[in-house]
Amino acid sequence: MARIKYIAGNWKMNKTTAEAVALAKEIVEKAKGLKCKIAICPVFTVLSEVNKVVRGTNVLLGAQNMSDKESGAFTGEISPDMLKDVGVSVVILGHSERRSYYGETDSFINGKVKLALEKGLDVILCVGETLAEREAGKAESVVTSQVVNGLKDISEGMLSHIVIAYEPVWAIGTGKTATAADADAIHKVIREKLAEIYSADAAEKMIIQYGGSMKPENAAGLLAMPNIDGGLIGGAALKSDSFAAILKCAE
Ligand code: PEP
Repeated sequence: MARIKYIAGNWKMNKTTAEAVALAKEIVEKAKGLKCKIAICPVFTVLSEVNKVVRGTNVLLGAQNMSDKESGAFTGEISPDMLKDVGVSVVILGHSERRSYYGETDSFINGKVKLALEKGLDVILCVGETLAEREAGKAESVVTSQVVNGLKDISEGMLSHIVIAYEPVWAIGTGKTATAADADAIHKVIREKLAEIYSADAAEKMIIQYGGSMKPENAAGLLAMPNIDGGLIGGAALKSDSFAAILKCAE
């Protein structure tokens, strides 16, 4: 079974409303007729306006994070229902910037994954090792433990709502990319772990994106690898030309 390619843009803390709407319009135009799955994930404040641009198109609206709580006295937080209310269908959880700057742990992220699924949101679950962990030979063990703990208590039936993004921390925003072979090797390890904890069928179906300085120059090589099913794109998602060039590589 061929897995569909899935490209998601993580805009991080960039773009005012006018800028985000303009970029979304360009992306919608350039994405017309493409067969790959596409999502853009802007900041919370522009979601509602960007939703007006992407609604009814082949570009999905995603968020970059959400609360682990449903509602209530959690100042500054955004709930899954609020995301759905403004047209969001997918949420990035466990991004390495959330893990490292805001102390998000595997169990905290797992709580969010479960809540997102309960509320009917799809999830992009990010995993990835730091440079120190890679140099210590721990890349595989770190990543598989993030996968196992992030998916704790999640049934096989729910996996169709989850995508895993392998993002080596040392490659995010640094211009350094894992070689296609190195990235594919970790994707394969993730798939083997999914086969072990779920089933061979579940592992075969799982979309595993690569993230970490993916750009038009390296996207084709990465996306040609057997276990790389798409990309989570940061910097290169902030301009429609570079994002569209990556989309073309996924066709
Ligand atoms: C990311 O933040 O998910 C990411 C992959 O960023 P960049 O493409 O800029 O490395």
